[in-house]
Amino acid sequence: MALNKLVVLVGGVGGAKLAYGLSRVLAPEQLTVIVNVADDFWHYGLRICPDLDTIMYTLADWVDPVNGWGIHGDTTEMLTTLRAYGEVAWFRLGDRDLATHLLRTELLRQGERLTTITGRLARAIGIQCTILPVTDQPVSTILETVEYGRLEFQEYFVKHRWQPEVRQISYQGANTAQLSDEVHHALRQADAIVFGPSNPWLSIEPILSVGNLREHLSQLPIPRIAMTPIIEGQAVKGPAAKIMRELGYEVSARAVAEFYGTTINGFIRDQRDTAFTFSLSEGRVSALDTLMHTNEDKIRVAQQVLALLEGGDG
Ligand code: GDP
Repeated sequence: MALNKLVVLVGGVGGAKLAYGLSRVLAPEQLTVIVNVADDFWHYGLRICPDLDTIMYTLADWVDPVNGWGIHGDTTEMLTTLRAYGEVAWFRLGDRDLATHLLRTELLRQGERLTTITGRLARAIGIQCTILPVTDQPVSTILETVEYGRLEFQEYFVKHRWQPEVRQISYQGANTAQLSDEVHHALRQADAIVFGPSNPWLSIEPILSVGNLREHLSQLPIPRIAMTPIIEGQAVKGPAAKIMRELGYEVSARAVAEFYGTTINGFIRDQRDTAFTFSLSEGRVSALDTLMHTNEDKIRVAQQVLALLEGGDG
């Protein structure tokens, strides 16, 4: 098929790798990146949107290549000063990074929507493709943990370094949040949908929970493919495998494919997972080397994903 417009749905660091590759092989008007907002939170009066920032910094080539988030070469004088005041300052905010949160918060305060603010910030730092928060309304991932009871996402992820045992996850606000007009428009125009190798429970489910998106996507008559974040029973990074185990799932790419269910009609497993056995009710499973360490890897994987879509394998 001729691929004109692609929508990629992502969380932060893992999804950003594929989004980066796609942004380097597609023309800007061909690519829309729809991003999770359920990690967003208020901190010292500032609205922080970690996944949007990771995507933005990655696509602008601003990102810290070691962490995969934050701005390359940023300093942390503000945090040092906060600590001098006796604050714990557990959430890492770089000094340059702070400008993003300050400006976003000020524009929100003036009544602007997160969607238009994101577009404005992204364009200002040279990003030409479209980055959209899935919704303009607040959605918050809440984790019910064994050790601490109910934790907000950043408390679980950063303050407690995702060590508490997770019993249950919910997405506060998702039932009432609406997909933005821009997201609706991008989905109407799309020739194909790609899910980045993002964490199913922390990044993808909070996107799919907004505005019945899961059901809506299931009915779109276009290729809809997802890439696994789990390779040989392990997450490449972060808590995906730990959470799957704690929630009672098998830690495997197969369980990820099952998680997507009819939302997808194509799945990309890693070629290392030779024992993978699963067939989708509709569409097929493809194998790629999905490990993306360098920018060249990200571009290679993006090209391979596009070849799959253009070959009708979605
Ligand atoms: P977060 O919100 O920053 O955690 O980012 P995402 O949810 O978008 O991505 C996290 C997931 O990306 C983790 O579960 C990782 O296993 C996965 N991941 C990270 N790097 C890679 C990679 O190079 N290849 C694949 N297949 N998955 C990756």
